[in-house]
Amino acid sequence: MTSSLATMAYIGATILFILSLGGLSNPETARRGNLFGMVGMAIAVLATVLGPRVTAAGIPYIVGALVVGGAIGLIAAKKVQMTQMPELVALMHSLVGLAACLVGFASYVDTSTVFATPAEKAIHEMEIYIGILIGAITFSGSLIAFGKLSGRIGGKPLLLPARHWLNLIGLLVVIWFGRAFLNAHDIQSGMTPLLVMTVIALLFGIHMVMAIGGADMPVVVSMLNSYSGWAAAATGFMLSNDLLIVVGALVGSSGAILSYIMCRAMNRNFISVIAGGFGGGAPTPKAAAGAAAVPQGEVTPVSATETAELLREAKNVIIVPGYGMAVAQAQHTVFEITKLLREKGVNVRFGIHPVAGRMPGHMNVLLAEAKVPYDIVLEMDEINEDFPDTDVTMVIGANDIVNPAAQDDPTSPIAGMPVLEVWKARTSIVMKRSMASGYAGVDNPLFYKDNNRMLFGDAKKMLDEVLAALRG
Ligand code: NDP
Repeated sequence: MTSSLATMAYIGATILFILSLGGLSNPETARRGNLFGMVGMAIAVLATVLGPRVTAAGIPYIVGALVVGGAIGLIAAKKVQMTQMPELVALMHSLVGLAACLVGFASYVDTSTVFATPAEKAIHEMEIYIGILIGAITFSGSLIAFGKLSGRIGGKPLLLPARHWLNLIGLLVVIWFGRAFLNAHDIQSGMTPLLVMTVIALLFGIHMVMAIGGADMPVVVSMLNSYSGWAAAATGFMLSNDLLIVVGALVGSSGAILSYIMCRAMNRNFISVIAGGFGGGAPTPKAAAGAAAVPQGEVTPVSATETAELLREAKNVIIVPGYGMAVAQAQHTVFEITKLLREKGVNVRFGIHPVAGRMPGHMNVLLAEAKVPYDIVLEMDEINEDFPDTDVTMVIGANDIVNPAAQDDPTSPIAGMPVLEVWKARTSIVMKRSMASGYAGVDNPLFYKDNNRMLFGDAKKMLDEVLAALRG
């Protein structure tokens, strides 16, 4: 493939990636967006492999790597459960970071590039230093995020004494070694500062994510998504590959916007979250995620038949799905119930919290999969005022996102986080298996409110029973 043809293919792929991002911003166009992304990536890979910078001798290696990598990706995608998706994404981010580090070291030891001026050489070395820095933070941070999301590492924040000072010292050391790296006369003397910086960056990545409490994880997940984009862009600079620079910048900036949205959704200060733990005074969660909290009062259980009765008598119903709906894979039954109630003239709508589930847009994906009409799926801000006029709210496997402690208890780890005010409805019904806490590991006073009922059991099983009772 000639150089101009490869450039044209890159421009085509770039346009497709931009269209892909545009498509993904709306559930109705998301499928098309995904398709654009896949076609764009196929063009990009083909143009790179067949492009002028790859020699014929290198092609078998690249094809071999593509087959191995592609097979691993295919098996992982086929095997992964929907609930494991966030961990898989975190793992993939770590690979982007690792790739940036490896490309950085390879570019540094590669002596084949001839620089016209010392300035050009210095710029190239700066790209390598920054690329490896971002790559190493992304790599170790994403691995810890993977551990936290999969439950291998506890959700409790690790708050080291003087952690902000540690971060600052780390930053100063990285700058100091950066100077030593740029002043090095040969590869051997430059390698030491490069390796020291890599170790500090790896430690910073670990520290940054370990210091994040359970409730703030969504910000970290979207932030690492952004970092992986910047790591890819840095790789693009090192390899002088325009497509990687553009695509990396697209992922980096869209991830940054998503992090900002997540911070706003959780009423958090972005800098405070990434600087290691939120603020200084946030107490540690009272219980580990999923652990049974100490009961704070009496709860009123309800049966599936009674739930069906309450729904049948209601005029306005709001359904609030959470992570438990994803675990139970209950979305199809939720849709059946919605359809039935709507046929009976009940106004059924969905209230979606921005951090519900374990990844951005998690609930929207599940509801779209079950073919729930988009016009009855509303964002938290659009629906929160409607709870006082609602007869029944059905909370399906959600916990933290409907926790009134976020508003009432300033000492709560989730204090200040906006929540769906389901308790303002005439009756709220919470569907979950036990009294266990959610991801943030805090008790939920909603369960003990007079107008709240608990429908204990697996969400899919209970909803099947509710559906049968509604039909019966
Ligand atoms: P939570 O984790 O707060 O609660 C989920 C609840 O679902 C649990 O209390 C659990 O209770 C219940 N559950 C689990 N399995 C089932 C089942 N099979 N049937 C019925 N219930 C079930 O989820 P939310 O969606 O309310 O909140 C999301 C949390 O995750 C927030 O803290 C958010 O910060 C965090 N997070 C979000 C990310 C994102 O990007 N969206 C990323 C990382 C973290 P029980 O065990 O008793 O059944």
